[in-house]
Amino acid sequence: MMRCTLFLLCLMVAATASTAAEHSPRPGGIAIVDVGTSKLPKPDVSYGSKPALVVQALDRWNAVIGIPLDTQSGEISVRVNGIEMGVTVADHAYAEQRLTVKNQSYVTPDQAQLDRIGRERKIIDGALNNFREVAVDGISLAPPVDGPRSSSFGLRRFFNDQPRSPHKGMDIAAASGTPIKAPREGIVTATGDYFFNGNTVIVDHGQGYVTMYCHMSEIAVEEGQMVGTGETLGSVGATGRVTGPHLHFGTYLNGTAVDPAIVLTTPESPR
Ligand SMILES: [Zn+2]
Repeated sequence: MMRCTLFLLCLMVAATASTAAEHSPRPGGIAIVDVGTSKLPKPDVSYGSKPALVVQALDRWNAVIGIPLDTQSGEISVRVNGIEMGVTVADHAYAEQRLTVKNQSYVTPDQAQLDRIGRERKIIDGALNNFREVAVDGISLAPPVDGPRSSSFGLRRFFNDQPRSPHKGMDIAAASGTPIKAPREGIVTATGDYFFNGNTVIVDHGQGYVTMYCHMSEIAVEEGQMVGTGETLGSVGATGRVTGPHLHFGTYLNGTAVDPAIVLTTPESPR
């Protein structure tokens, strides 16, 4: 009962805070949880084994939790200074998407390619799970490129009729060579030409808030480089497993992919 009351109180407070618009407690969504007055030091918040982002919103601390795509609806537990707190996750059904790629290696890689994918997975996972303890003032992001956006985050994908992992980002269509701009300041934590993702940049915005840019024609930054909002990270391209030029834009919290549509500030520009 106590948990339930606390939770209701949280929702009421979260609704008045500046991050309330992003509260979307569903698989692949974000839970904004009020975790106390900002007159007290920032609390330690974790979800599962991962530390979580905490931002200041007016006179409160808000935890910003990425909810994994494979979460079942019901109550999840967030740890705040060692105390468990319940958050209710709503159900959300993602549709199927069927894609055809010409190069069969992208569907059934050979052993050498599987070895390469395994090596790259470690680098990518390391960058996506990086936790840098700095103040973060919010999670809203300007669009990294203008263009028609797919709403394909979370879709259960089939490549050439073979089931593969769900789509963990948003695809933004733009011509090859269009500059990709950093939507918020951060540090570049990985760059590379990866098997599936093609030319890729990963940017750490602090406290486990990470963005990823894939299939670029060119990379304009280096690992370890600080980037400011609006700085060019590279250009749109068609490298890796693609059906045409576009930016694959991924947003991550506590190592979990969340739907970028939740944090993008401006609506899509007209086609
Ligand atoms: Zn994509």
